[in-house]
Amino acid sequence: MSDCRSVAILGAGMAGAAVARRLADAGLAVQVFDKGRTVGGRMATRRDGTLQFDHGAQFMRAHGPAFEKRLEDWAGRGIAAPWAGAGRRIGIPDMTAPVRDLLTGLSVASRITIARIARTGSAWYVETASNAVHGPFDAVAITFPAPQGRALLDRSGYALPGIERAAYAPCWSLMVAAENGVTQALIEPRADPIALIAADASKPGRPPGSRLTIHATADWSRNHLEDAQDAVAAALLPAAEYHLGLALRPSYVEAHRWRYAQVEHPLGRANLYDPTLRLGAAGDWCLGARIEAAYDSGSVLATAILADFGGPV
Ligand SMILES: Cc1cc2nc3c(=O)[nH]c(=O)nc-3n(C[C@H](O)[C@H](O)[C@H](O)COP(=O)(O)OP(=O)(O)OC[C@H]3O[C@@H](n4cnc5c(N)ncnc54)[C@H](O)[C@@H]3O)c2cc1C
Repeated sequence: MSDCRSVAILGAGMAGAAVARRLADAGLAVQVFDKGRTVGGRMATRRDGTLQFDHGAQFMRAHGPAFEKRLEDWAGRGIAAPWAGAGRRIGIPDMTAPVRDLLTGLSVASRITIARIARTGSAWYVETASNAVHGPFDAVAITFPAPQGRALLDRSGYALPGIERAAYAPCWSLMVAAENGVTQALIEPRADPIALIAADASKPGRPPGSRLTIHATADWSRNHLEDAQDAVAAALLPAAEYHLGLALRPSYVEAHRWRYAQVEHPLGRANLYDPTLRLGAAGDWCLGARIEAAYDSGSVLATAILADFGGPV
């Protein structure tokens, strides 16, 4: 295989990082773009002064051998560690660490929103929201949440049939620092309005302090999707106190809305790839609502691209 094949990977969450790592290891030139300030996507950590919250995904679990092998590798190198029992592992020192590890040494452009993609002959170009054009690339891999990937395809005049079938539930995430301590590591009421309460400092590698991440249920989040942050905090805080069995004395409260949080209706296949266009899409929306699904989807898309380029898979 020629080593001058180049692939633009749009999105630097777990799926994009898995595509990028596998292609780069096979000798392809990869360029990753993400609109975020940092990589990781929904494997996210919010920092505000000395405060730190995992306000997106809380933990990783492996159901299959490929991701289990990856988790073991991260654990061996101090990039993942066990938390809260039952096979749950977290990124060390934060939830973005596993994605950062996959992207080590690769070309990643952050704070770049991709607005359009276009093909001239067999060459792909990607256009940013500020009208900068990057390329040429031999192939493009889109790893946004499905509705955002579909919107990019529509704007650009391309289609990957099936992407419209995947659907997400939203999630309001409330970050709270309190003056009084919380002893439980993880509570999962999974009853409206509270899905989960996680004590950040109970996780290995996190700074000490009484910090909680509170996730609302999918139904509650959907019904309050357009509510103001203050209203969300005012509703979730007392509900969390009820489950914790104590009145919090908050010193910091911040709500974050994840519009596309957890996959409700996955596509049911590992990815979409059109070899005629050399255009593909991957993400958790292909296989299910978890980090492992994003990893597996991205890895299999990379395999499809390599097979198309005629190299070893
Ligand atoms: C609140 C919450 C809790 C969760 N809890 C868990 C959990 O405990 N365990 C678990 O396994 N999973 C959990 N998940 C799901 C898990 O986070 C996802 O399945 C996984 O991280 C998805 O990875 P991805 O690469 O498919 O997508 P993403 O992580 O969403 O990555 C997509 C990337 O595309 C970028 N992007 C989008 N549009 C553009 C654009 N136009 N231009 C440039 N870049 C763009 C985004 O910035 C993002 O970085 C949770 C998710 C949320 C939101």
